[in-house]
Amino acid sequence: MHDVIIIGAGPAGLSTAFWCDELGLDTLVLEQAEQVGGQLHRVYNPIENYLGLKARNGQELLANFTKDLDAAEFDLWTQVDVESADLKARRISLRSGEELQTIAIVIATGVTARELGVPGEKEFIGKGMIESGTRDRQLFAGKDVCVVGGGDAAVENALLLAEVCPTVTVVHRGKKLRARREFAERLQPNNRITVFTESVLTRILGNEEIEAVEIQRKGGLKPFQLAVGGVLIRIGVKPRTELFREQIETDEKGYIAVNHQQETSASMVFAVGDVSNPVAPTISGATGAGATAAKVIASRLTAR
Ligand code: NDP
Repeated sequence: MHDVIIIGAGPAGLSTAFWCDELGLDTLVLEQAEQVGGQLHRVYNPIENYLGLKARNGQELLANFTKDLDAAEFDLWTQVDVESADLKARRISLRSGEELQTIAIVIATGVTARELGVPGEKEFIGKGMIESGTRDRQLFAGKDVCVVGGGDAAVENALLLAEVCPTVTVVHRGKKLRARREFAERLQPNNRITVFTESVLTRILGNEEIEAVEIQRKGGLKPFQLAVGGVLIRIGVKPRTELFREQIETDEKGYIAVNHQQETSASMVFAVGDVSNPVAPTISGATGAGATAAKVIASRLTAR
């Protein structure tokens, strides 16, 4: 029997674990990936706004977060597949067959990138699909590219790619871009960038590598093809809550509802980080939520 089992070892899960450890709780962290860090592995931009710590990218911030990992006394199991979680009984079953029992559960499973679900999207991974404008920019220098999405991520990446690509076509399903003004305003004077609003990308085409995309514009009779050598999809994220959705309250998008003590609707089940923060997901918010959850759990255990 553990005091706390934390599912997910991104910034929120790690922060919860360090705090639980400090508060003397018997803590186990379960992480599906080989390494801890979650989304920090996919942040290629400088991180400027984490109070007191600046980092060139997510990896560097993660190195700061984990420098005391060896000295910490919580248990950390990586490459663990949680098969099911009975939140009422607070019992977790692993795909390996192991059953775990705990007093408190902390869900820190984060979010995952939304997929477009069009032909070619998966087939061309590593063959023209761009993962990040920052990281992959030089690989795509000189190529015409297409960016799908209308939020901050899509527009920021379009601007970055336009520094090295002759043309960048942004395809957005809505009437108006959703990106913050400071990004959107930089699009207009950039003559390398074309924005197709009310348009959807319907197929990614090519042989060995991406050669073109098919775009359907609203009111257009049929889709047209545009020759490109790279495609970047940034259409937001979705919470990783499949294991828990039927058992606790979520919003309509599946984000876990929590109160200001990070408690979910299930007793002694907490949620921290992006999985429970649809409005303002930040690294600082995630680590702060972890601290809150740990302190609340410690006080509940003392009161028992
Ligand atoms: P957002 O949720 O902000 O935007 C997603 C965009 O994708 C929307 O324009 C949406 O269209 C579109 N979209 C969603 N689903 C589909 C679909 N199936 N087909 C086509 N288009 C679709 O996500 P982002 O990834 O842009 O950003 C995620 C978070 O990260 C935000 O909080 C953002 O502010 C933050 N961020 C911050 C940055 C920074 O501070 N430098 C940089 C990048 C991101 P519609 O508008 O029609 O719904």
